Amino acid sequence: MTREPIDYGQFEAGRDCNYWTLDRTLQRVAARTYPADEFEWAEPVLEDFGEVVGHTVADNADRIDRHEPELHTYDKHGDVVNEVEYHPKQAENERIAYEEFGLSHDAFHAPPGREEPVGLTHTLMMQSLLSFADPGFVCPVSMTTGAAIVLDEFDDGSLAEQFRALTSRDVDEHIEGAMFLTEKQGGSDVGANETIAEAADDTALEGDPEGVYHLTGEKWFCSNIDAEGALALARRPGAPEGTAGLSLFLVSRTRSDGEVNDATFRRLKDKLGTLSVPTGEIEFHGAEAHLVGEPENGFRQMTEMLNFERLSNATAAVGIMGRALLESKV
Ligand SMILES: Cc1cc2nc3c(=O)[nH]c(=O)nc-3n(C[C@H](O)[C@H](O)[C@H](O)COP(=O)(O)OP(=O)(O)OC[C@H]3O[C@@H](n4cnc5c(N)ncnc54)[C@H](O)[C@@H]3O)c2cc1C
Repeated sequence: MTREPIDYGQFEAGRDCNYWTLDRTLQRVAARTYPADEFEWAEPVLEDFGEVVGHTVADNADRIDRHEPELHTYDKHGDVVNEVEYHPKQAENERIAYEEFGLSHDAFHAPPGREEPVGLTHTLMMQSLLSFADPGFVCPVSMTTGAAIVLDEFDDGSLAEQFRALTSRDVDEHIEGAMFLTEKQGGSDVGANETIAEAADDTALEGDPEGVYHLTGEKWFCSNIDAEGALALARRPGAPEGTAGLSLFLVSRTRSDGEVNDATFRRLKDKLGTLSVPTGEIEFHGAEAHLVGEPENGFRQMTEMLNFERLSNATAAVGIMGRALLESKV
């Protein structure tokens, strides 16, 4: 089919346009990779999302980049609050992504107009479009799906409430995911991690997944630092050295009693890009955490999320290149 040539001259700033309709390569790839019945449902969704990202989300992203998130570790009384203050437009981008377009919902629950959830190809394609405007925001969006994948696969139901919140389409109850792996001495070599997880009671000591643990240690590179659904690796007392001794825990900014968790958000990293996502350092001082899946199987479980984040990074790069190409074609 011959299509009308596009006059790129009108898109000098790569804005005020529809990223989906302008990217014919992305359209061809999507048509080839989605299962046919899913693409029929997804095509109008991708077109609507390309439009809103090219206008509202892109405008918001510019403002957010000029007023990046600020960390308030203490309140005026000197009490630890670990609060991140966001530009108000961040809330609008979250509503568009999670509520209007179901970015962490639709891969786990049937979206409007379907009886089944849609595959992760759709999630990744939507993240590519989002990345045309805000690759920083793609980070928490994709980690929310990544954390949900892990709970979906390994949780025995004791973290059902957190899974429901990670995959909710209602922003008032929705929470975001994160992954706290890296420590100063344990970046590439995660097996060098030193954070410890001590059982809060006897039930937990026997490895009961419903048990509560207390994390103590330092995490050095935590993107989406204030997430309520973060997954963290830590070692139980007596566990083997290296990755084989790591267990996986869900740890939130707030404890189950609603108080701020026993942690200090030390500082945010001074980054050159992805400014809309706050990346920082955390000291855990006995923070409440919940064991995910089997003890001492944490690294293997975590790789499910890591593999999804790798794919997310690749597809987000497609969005960044698409935007650069669009701007260079004028
Ligand atoms: C913007 C940003 C966001 C991040 N967000 C998160 C996050 O949300 N959660 C999280 O857990 N981490 C996060 N990280 C941390 C990131 O995952 C680590 O930086 C990464 O794992 C590398 O670890 P490192 O920085 O300690 O480098 P090192 O492990 O010290 O590596 C330094 C250099 O040595 C090389 N090297 C290391 N080991 C070997 C080896 N055995 N053989 C040969 N060469 C080697 C590496 O390739 C690299 O070039 C983030 C990092 C950045 C920059």
